[in-house]
Amino acid sequence: MKFNDISSISRRGFSLSLLSTSLVSAKSSKSYKNLDVLVIGAGLSGLYAAEILSKEGLKVAVIEGNKRLGGRIQSLRNLEGNPEAGGDSILGGYGRVRNLVKDYNLSLIDHAQRRGLSDKEIVYGGTLIDRDQWPDHKLNFMPKESKEEFPGRKFFEKIVLKNTPLESFEDWNESSSKKYDTSVYEFLRELGWSDHTILQNYDTNIGRGNSSHDCSILSWYFRVGWDKLQRNIEDVAFKIKGGNQSLIDAMAASFSGDIFLNKVVRGIRQDNRKVEVICNDGTSFTSEKVVCSIPLNPLKWIKFDPILPRDLSAAIHLLPSMKINKVFFAVKNNFWEEDGYSPSMWTDTDLGQISTLRQNENNTDVTGLIARVRGPLAAKLDTMGESLASKHVLETLERIRPAAKENIEIVGYKSWAMDRFAGGTWTEWQPGQIHKFQKHLGDRFNHVHFCGEHTALSNRGMEGAAESAERCALEVLESI
Ligand SMILES: Cc1cc2nc3c(=O)[nH]c(=O)nc-3n(C[C@H](O)[C@H](O)[C@H](O)COP(=O)(O)OP(=O)(O)OC[C@H]3O[C@@H](n4cnc5c(N)ncnc54)[C@H](O)[C@@H]3O)c2cc1C
Repeated sequence: MKFNDISSISRRGFSLSLLSTSLVSAKSSKSYKNLDVLVIGAGLSGLYAAEILSKEGLKVAVIEGNKRLGGRIQSLRNLEGNPEAGGDSILGGYGRVRNLVKDYNLSLIDHAQRRGLSDKEIVYGGTLIDRDQWPDHKLNFMPKESKEEFPGRKFFEKIVLKNTPLESFEDWNESSSKKYDTSVYEFLRELGWSDHTILQNYDTNIGRGNSSHDCSILSWYFRVGWDKLQRNIEDVAFKIKGGNQSLIDAMAASFSGDIFLNKVVRGIRQDNRKVEVICNDGTSFTSEKVVCSIPLNPLKWIKFDPILPRDLSAAIHLLPSMKINKVFFAVKNNFWEEDGYSPSMWTDTDLGQISTLRQNENNTDVTGLIARVRGPLAAKLDTMGESLASKHVLETLERIRPAAKENIEIVGYKSWAMDRFAGGTWTEWQPGQIHKFQKHLGDRFNHVHFCGEHTALSNRGMEGAAESAERCALEVLESI
């Protein structure tokens, strides 16, 4: 791979009106031409598609808007054990990702055993409730046959798995499943859950969407079925030694074409022969084909000429993206040994959920804490900005656990919704959206092909990104 700095090439003024001028007549002293394929985005899907295409002998270049590679894979290299700000667990059925890890001579560490290492405390109504008091506590709104259970995602997912009407989770986008595309709220009400039970188990530390009303239960049928398959293949949760970013770094290092950083795409225009991609700084790239891996949210800001087909355009503008903020804490003293409670907490405060990070070699020692703040709570923190939000989260933790005072400090903060190149963590589905949009997200638009996690049909996350890259690269190879 060659990193290119083309800032030395003289700038061409660019205005969106230029998008309507003919591609062939556009003259630019700052242009990069004669490519077979230009890949936009140097996340996992973009780099993998670029690798496949260049190995087939095509002249491929990658442009990336950010000043770093990796997109939603971002290992925090400044923290012990390189915890992940983004894509974290590589699961049992991740055949493509595991093959890539092997191809690049990287090694995997299984951190599945961390799951069982600390019990979670319940903080509800803003106060910590002793676990032995939970079953009879006045704030326990669990279904009456499940009073002993702890609230939250694990319990909810168990219920979804038990009640899924899909024979195979892969049927989720078939027309026969359309009738199931209602809201999580309707599904839970049909099971007889009260509003309080739904609020406690779904809307607190929400797993998907902003509320039980705006999230599709069909997307959960897919999710829990897919998760089960991963466990059945092999019940592991790997991460790459040195951080998942190591895979990105290795892929970029071995890529034979050029990679350009800081090239924020602003417009894509095409005629019947070529595509021109225009960046914010005025540079333009001309190629026969474009592979676009930009996530849906930032894709909204790209001007297409001619304009995108209606279904694809509607999907880009209407599909929401999950909001998650991660706050990383260093621990000076193990305050939980002082107050006798577990460091891990499921809370209904602005802290979201607190878990232990166990990032050292043996996977067991606590190397820090992480707060995962989701959905509307993440949106609330985003209105405060990083520094006030960090302070607020720290103070909330110290209020719930006074023993933590002066024993913790914030060492990392990431809002995915505020990251302009991601606009959130992954695509979400509101009731009724799956059948309207899911199959269109990967639709090719003349010479522009789309990949990325949001276009995957059978997988999620990093494996979904890799699946989409293979599908997209094959599509390009067939059409070139
Ligand atoms: C908090 C979090 C936790 C996650 N946990 C897991 C997990 O445990 N397991 C799992 O499998 N997956 C997980 N994921 C999901 C996984 O990280 C993603 O699905 C995957 O990395 C997406 O890859 P991609 O190539 O589709 O998109 P991206 O990695 O987002 O790549 C898109 C690229 O396009 C670039 N770009 C955007 N706009 C422009 C523009 N205008 N011009 C030029 N370039 C642009 C971006 O900078 C980015 O590099 C998680 C993600 C997050 C955020």
